[in-house]
Amino acid sequence: MSKSREIQYTCPYCGKEFQTTIYESINVKEDVDLKDNCMSGDIFKHLCPHCHTDFMIQNPLVYMDHDLKFMLWVSTEDVPEQVVQLAKPLHEKGYKLRRCETIQQFTEKLQIFEDHMDDIVVELGKYDSFIEYIDNRQGNPEEVTSIEYQYTKDDVMKINVRCDDKGLSFLIPIAGLEEEIRAQSDRYALDNARFPLVDSNWIIQLFLEEDKPLN
Ligand SMILES: [Zn+2]
Repeated sequence: MSKSREIQYTCPYCGKEFQTTIYESINVKEDVDLKDNCMSGDIFKHLCPHCHTDFMIQNPLVYMDHDLKFMLWVSTEDVPEQVVQLAKPLHEKGYKLRRCETIQQFTEKLQIFEDHMDDIVVELGKYDSFIEYIDNRQGNPEEVTSIEYQYTKDDVMKINVRCDDKGLSFLIPIAGLEEEIRAQSDRYALDNARFPLVDSNWIIQLFLEEDKPLN
C-alpha cells in the first residue's frame, strides 16, 4: 500500500497557508495511476490555491516497484535504519536498492529501470560521454550543466551532455560498457543492502581513487 498524509504548508511565494497531500511511500504495483506522476517528478509538485503558483516539496519518499524489483529512498538524508531493515528481505530476493538525492535523480533512475537497464552501466556511459565531450570537443568541464540519460534502443544508449547554450547527444553501445564492468567487477561493487547512491559523483569518485598512488 502507498502511504500519504495531509500537511499544512506555507506557500513560499505568497506566504499563505494551505493543505496539501504528500506521499511517504509508493507501491507502484498497487497504485499504477501514480506511476506517470513519479516518472515526471510531478508527485512532488504542489499548487498553492491562493496565488496559483506551483512548486516542488521534496519530502522523503520510499518508492517500490515489485515488477521491476527495485526500491528507492528519495532524500538528501541517509537512509533510516528502519527502511534498511524493511528492505532486507527484498535485498535477499535480488531487488536493487538505491538512494536518490534529488527529484531529477529520481526520475532518471525510474527511466533507467523502466528500460531494464543497469544503472551502473548507465553511469559509466554518462561518464564516457562527459570525457568524450571534454576531450574531442575541447569543451570545458565547468561549462557542463548536466549529463542526462535519455533512453536505450537496440542496445544503444542515448546520453545528452548539456552546456548553458548548447547540448550534444552521444549514442553508446552498451555491450562495451557491460564488458568493462564485468572485467573490473570489484571496482564497481556496491553495498546494495545500504541503498548506495549510484550517480555521477559516485563514478567520478571511483576514477579519482584509481588515480591515487597505492600505499
Ligand atoms: Zn501562494
